[in-house]
Amino acid sequence: MALSTHPWPLPGDPAWDDDHMKEECGIVGIWGHADAAALAALGLHALQHRGQEASGIVSLNGGGRFHAHKGRGLVGDNFGSAEVIRSLPGQAAVGHNRYATTGESTMRNVQPLYAEFEFGGLAVAHNGNLTNAMALKRALIRRGCLFQSTTDSEVFIHLIAISLYSTVLDRLIDALKQVQGAYSLITLYEGALIGARDPLGVRPLVLGRLGPPGSNAWVMASETCALDIVGAEFVRDVEPGEVVIADSSGVRSVRPFGAHHGRFCIFEYVYFARPDSIVEGTPVYDTRKRIGAELARESHVAADVVVPVPDSGVPSAMGYAAEAGIPFELGIIRNHYVGRTFIEPTDQIRHLGVKLKHSANRAVIEGRRVVLVDDSIVRGTTSKKIVEMVRQAGAAEVHMRISCPPTTHSCFYGIDTPEREKLLAANHSVAEMAAIIGADSLAFVSIDGLYRALNRPARDPAAPAFCDACLTGDYAIPLTDLAGHPERERALLALNGA
Ligand code: SF4
Repeated sequence: MALSTHPWPLPGDPAWDDDHMKEECGIVGIWGHADAAALAALGLHALQHRGQEASGIVSLNGGGRFHAHKGRGLVGDNFGSAEVIRSLPGQAAVGHNRYATTGESTMRNVQPLYAEFEFGGLAVAHNGNLTNAMALKRALIRRGCLFQSTTDSEVFIHLIAISLYSTVLDRLIDALKQVQGAYSLITLYEGALIGARDPLGVRPLVLGRLGPPGSNAWVMASETCALDIVGAEFVRDVEPGEVVIADSSGVRSVRPFGAHHGRFCIFEYVYFARPDSIVEGTPVYDTRKRIGAELARESHVAADVVVPVPDSGVPSAMGYAAEAGIPFELGIIRNHYVGRTFIEPTDQIRHLGVKLKHSANRAVIEGRRVVLVDDSIVRGTTSKKIVEMVRQAGAAEVHMRISCPPTTHSCFYGIDTPEREKLLAANHSVAEMAAIIGADSLAFVSIDGLYRALNRPARDPAAPAFCDACLTGDYAIPLTDLAGHPERERALLALNGA
């Protein structure tokens, strides 16, 4: 996505890699297991959908020695050999899958980030975006900090390094109190593996236990699917604002921000999380089916067949078909050997990717009135091509149903979205969008319908249960780096629809 035209950085700002400002990532940490690096690699493999550009693992063995291996490409490309795993000894490891959007991808930005400081080595893996990172970076540079990468995540390392507190935990908490934004964070130093979520818990993080009850081997990861692959027992979600410490005496936690009303990313349920993950106590697969059922109740249409846009549209299409009493069929076949359209880094490749990825199953579609179910419309380019493909396969009618309300705003909390003028729903009515993508009709699940599928009666505007800023423009975390500058303020106003 063309993020280089986002409103930052501006002239005079420190160098900043804008692709990194807009990433979605997967993180995993292992503590107290002889196969820590191998388990971290497996966890990253399960979290591959959260980042496919690069991956890295930093391990820690006795005597405070850290070992690192990072590389561009998929986890299997980087950690598929026993030799690489053997080069990462130790009983603790932290891993990261990176997803970059546009622009140059540099190895120095591949996480986990690692640095030496007063207490020895420190590795940091971060999922999310900091919304005051530019301001903090300017202040840190004025204080003499030398940045080695262009990621917002490096701010954590410098804040920890210069903090005056006397323990690593207190320094980390000191750092967390200075940053704004969305983060799930796993840090590793000689004494502990520490996981943390931002006070609103926008990005996910779970805790699991390896081995029998009473063992002191732990896993922290973005999603439960990473626990499943390593055979760990799910213990619980790390709570919003919670800091969880795994060390030689077990697991404990502190809550430096007190009790908070969380605002978990609602889009994790719609699209990002793997369907076999359990997110905040709710199975993603079941939720997607319930969203599909809501969609069918809200926007029923006479049709012969319900067809998902695979793969992420499948559960909601199943829910739609069951509720509407219309047969569910696999009318579009996906080639699994190419990446997800949403994560391709350039418009040209994305354009090509649609044809590479999907083909119509004529036997299911020809002569039928088709309900196509997908999870979202961002620019509309993919939807247009899918509708076209289904028509070419002989569909009598094509009705598009979307298991998410219109995406009208950009995300600044760790998910890549285009700037607002490129979001189809920000600039067009639903009827106009239907005409643009060439569908006979188009409907989105309502925001209240989405909340109902998440077991809430409706969205409470006074205290929404989730972050839904990309659907409502209600940004719960201040966008500090955007404010205070005329150009940024204009961008901010535009983003908020003013
Ligand atoms: Fe998730 Fe949207 Fe909030 Fe971003 S703005 S964190 S994508 S709900």
